[in-house]
Amino acid sequence: MRSALQPMTLSRVPDALIRHPLPCVRCKYDLLGLEARGTCPECGASILNSLAARLDLDSDSFLPMHGVRRVATTIFTAAIGLAGGSCVFLALLAQVASHAFESDGFTHAVPVLRGIAVGCTLLGFLAFIAVLPWIRHREFIRAHILGAGGFAMWYAAAIQPPSVIIATYAALPAAMVLLAVTPLLRDLGPRSRAYRSARATAQRIDGLLLSTGLAGGASATAELLASTTNSDDIATVLRLTAGASATLSLIGFCYLLLNSIWILRAAFRPLLTIEQAFGVEASATNPTIRK
Ligand SMILES: [Zn+2]
Repeated sequence: MRSALQPMTLSRVPDALIRHPLPCVRCKYDLLGLEARGTCPECGASILNSLAARLDLDSDSFLPMHGVRRVATTIFTAAIGLAGGSCVFLALLAQVASHAFESDGFTHAVPVLRGIAVGCTLLGFLAFIAVLPWIRHREFIRAHILGAGGFAMWYAAAIQPPSVIIATYAALPAAMVLLAVTPLLRDLGPRSRAYRSARATAQRIDGLLLSTGLAGGASATAELLASTTNSDDIATVLRLTAGASATLSLIGFCYLLLNSIWILRAAFRPLLTIEQAFGVEASATNPTIRK
């Protein structure tokens, strides 16, 4: 969790009057214009406590990034697309289950899951086209191509009837979208640290890429073996491996979705810098992309 304000921090402030709207941490009274070392006139809470809750003490370590809110919205929408697009896999499971158990519940679930996959992949495509800023920067260009291309390919798969081939193929666009999101997440993730533990802000995408690749690779190999040889046992093991990996990926996509909500919150409601709170000129205001 965040530490309280330290004397070192206040020594950076020439005159300790609050010069930015600052709600009292206890009663929400606006402390603008009051002495930082004083107390809230409404409830008596220490103003330093209100500052500690809203100040970003590490802001110096982040250079301003172009279009933070649009990038955060893209990550959030991509996470919806990844989780929703995985419904091509769930639709296949529901179809298999409806044949196996002759259950109406599974039969009705198939078109719903297909609809979710179609809608979410389309949403993901639109985010990479219309929301992610068009910046001439290697990471952004790569994100545009891999993200929009991946979701376009995934959408083309989602509108087909569910099948093993479609579910297997979906691993490829999923991996493309993960590669598109990785550099954006690496930059924006740590910015949400003020709202939660630093450890939770760094989600590693490598594991997700591995499970997604394993799901597609094992499933494709199983289909190849089943069609060319009589290695049914090996094919069954590979299919089970593919199913387990796809399930792991789906769980990872849901975690990424939760993670992206925190990032979205941090981007739309950034904490105050010391300079903002005390009305001092910021030291580095040159907008650039953090490398
Ligand atoms: Zn108060």
